[in-house]
Amino acid sequence: RRQRRMAVIHELDSHMADLIAAGEVVERPSSVCKELVENAIDAGATQITVELEHGGISYLRICDNGCGMSPEDAPVAFRRHATSKIRTREDLAAIGTLGFRGEALAAICAVSRVDLFTKQIGCVEGTHLSLEGGKITANEPAGCPEGTTFVIRDLFYNTPARMKFLKKDFTEAGYVLSVVEHAAESHPEIMFRCIRDGKDVFHSPGGGSLKNAVFSVFGKELSKNLIEMPEHELNGVKVWGYISKPHAPRANRTYQHFFVNGRFVKSKLIQAAMEEAYRNSMITGKYPYGCVCVQLPLSQVDVNVHPAKTEVKFAQEKQVFSAVYAACKNALAGDDNVPEIQAKP
Ligand code: ADP
Ligand code: MG
Repeated sequence: RRQRRMAVIHELDSHMADLIAAGEVVERPSSVCKELVENAIDAGATQITVELEHGGISYLRICDNGCGMSPEDAPVAFRRHATSKIRTREDLAAIGTLGFRGEALAAICAVSRVDLFTKQIGCVEGTHLSLEGGKITANEPAGCPEGTTFVIRDLFYNTPARMKFLKKDFTEAGYVLSVVEHAAESHPEIMFRCIRDGKDVFHSPGGGSLKNAVFSVFGKELSKNLIEMPEHELNGVKVWGYISKPHAPRANRTYQHFFVNGRFVKSKLIQAAMEEAYRNSMITGKYPYGCVCVQLPLSQVDVNVHPAKTEVKFAQEKQVFSAVYAACKNALAGDDNVPEIQAKP
């Protein structure tokens, strides 16, 4: 009986806290890739290259030509809640960057071995940092190109329980590639490259054309049946993109890509609005595909729902629904190739 009372409350040390928090942000190699690609985008990069080996578990390298970090900032970036992107509560109400929590780097370095090479634009010398299990093991000046390169090795080497939940390398690599593809669609101004086990598996040209980016992602065959959805605004919600012709549906929804304010999202609401627009022109059990971009005032959407940030909450759901529906409907109506629904004789 006495012993039961012995349980004493104590605060976890910061390393344990980081390990637990890491689980929220870093689920698999693709989540590492997503966080690092988002950082590269926030850093203003125009070229981002992702290289991976063994599904990104043993090796993941993300290289950007963005603003880089100063020798003083680089080590601070790995601390928990260290961010250059928001400062005040007001900032939280209107998040304009992809990152804002200041958690990603802390989480990633807690569960892997990290090398960082970074140089600010216009600086003579760059910085190299090594970290293992969250601890800095090297911090030295280094010659490197302008921008930032992260090398993540041996993800989950110190958390075998997490490691067990990973799928086969091929599947994990597929998830990483999806992250790069979604980033290319949401940021057509950036040139993306993905190299898997030494082979080029994805390339988008950059330059700002959504059409080119979508073509890179969907490939020749699927792109053939995409029609342009010109920008359409309703209730302050702008919607545009490329959507499939009704006569060329897919058996599943994997090629439905939705973006809200430049962020890839999973949204039942957008999905329902898009599918509603095809309602009378598509067989049940088949789904339209395409890239649907939605833009609305930052104050009208909450991205602070989950650390992985693929879910969003809209303040005005009905308005978003009708805007997406109207844009899709319009695009479909303007497409000459939409076959008439045949009346049964
Ligand atoms: P967040 O993105 O939420 O701010 P992170 O942990 O992802 O938090 O990154 C911490 C900080 O490190 C960022 O706010 C940024 O200042 C810096 N940083 C991270 N990656 C890069 C990069 N690729 N280029 C320049 N700065 C970066
Ligand atoms: Mg970040």
